[in-house]
Amino acid sequence: MDASEGAVTTAAAPYIGRFAPSPTGALHFGSLVAAVASYADARSVNGRWLLRIEDVDTTRCSMAAEKRIRAQLALHGFEPDGPVLRQRERGERYAAALERLRACGHVYACACSRRALAGAPRNADGETIYPGHCRELALGPEGHALRLRVPDGIDGEIAFSDRAAGDVRQHLAPEVGDFVLRRADGIWAYQLAVVVDDAEQHVTDVVRGADLLGNTPRQIHLQRRLGVATPRYLHVPLVRDSCGDKLSKQTHAAELADDEVLPALHAAWRWLGQAALPTVATPAAFWRLAIDRWDDGQIPRDSRQ
Ligand code: GLU
Ligand code: ZN
Repeated sequence: MDASEGAVTTAAAPYIGRFAPSPTGALHFGSLVAAVASYADARSVNGRWLLRIEDVDTTRCSMAAEKRIRAQLALHGFEPDGPVLRQRERGERYAAALERLRACGHVYACACSRRALAGAPRNADGETIYPGHCRELALGPEGHALRLRVPDGIDGEIAFSDRAAGDVRQHLAPEVGDFVLRRADGIWAYQLAVVVDDAEQHVTDVVRGADLLGNTPRQIHLQRRLGVATPRYLHVPLVRDSCGDKLSKQTHAAELADDEVLPALHAAWRWLGQAALPTVATPAAFWRLAIDRWDDGQIPRDSRQ
């Protein structure tokens, strides 16, 4: 696949956005902020808004969490378009993409254990920069992780303009290294699944939390390798707790309360820098006003960027 084939433009395509939660637990305020931003951004231009359940890591996801998330979304007035996509049902699509990359010589097997990589350098996001131990070993794929060989030269220098964060530049080889596409236990990596799914769902605009900003160059590189369009990106600032840590299930962020729906919607709205909305009686009334008044230019930048 010629990298230039990746330069497909989506500028004229009708807006398709998505919200892609991982069902490892209920939604918390940080997830609500991302959902509100993507929903308002899509609906304010009469765009579609898709729901994708990112349950690719079956060891951490549950049907109970998916049900809870969908109930929370409904309660907060979100109305997804079209069928819900579940990553757990899409292994064949990921395998087909992997095969295309492999046929072009971009994939190799890696036998390094977590322990073997413990001393490797880490990037600004705390991720291990893979030092390339297995690059030239030509191991068979069985029982091994599969990694994408990232280019050392200019093709591996990814630059893009984020609608909120501005210009982002990352050099994949020194800042990320060859990254995993499929884990040794057979689980597909988020990077591959998200690129295949965004492309197949014709997503034109990815609106999500700034914790994924540093993953975006990997995804753009994969899009180029696979010859699919690159969407526009808008990364909204992260909600942090009083210790400065990102709100997450790992830090036991409180789940959204069913009896605080309107206060939570208003708080998410304000968090996104939007002008306060009048008091309303229902989520539907909130959304009627919000969709009309959404202003992406008001979104604050993450203070740590
Ligand atoms: N599933 C990811 C998460 O819950 C979001 C992925 C994305 O929006 O690209 O953090
Ligand atoms: Zn290795």
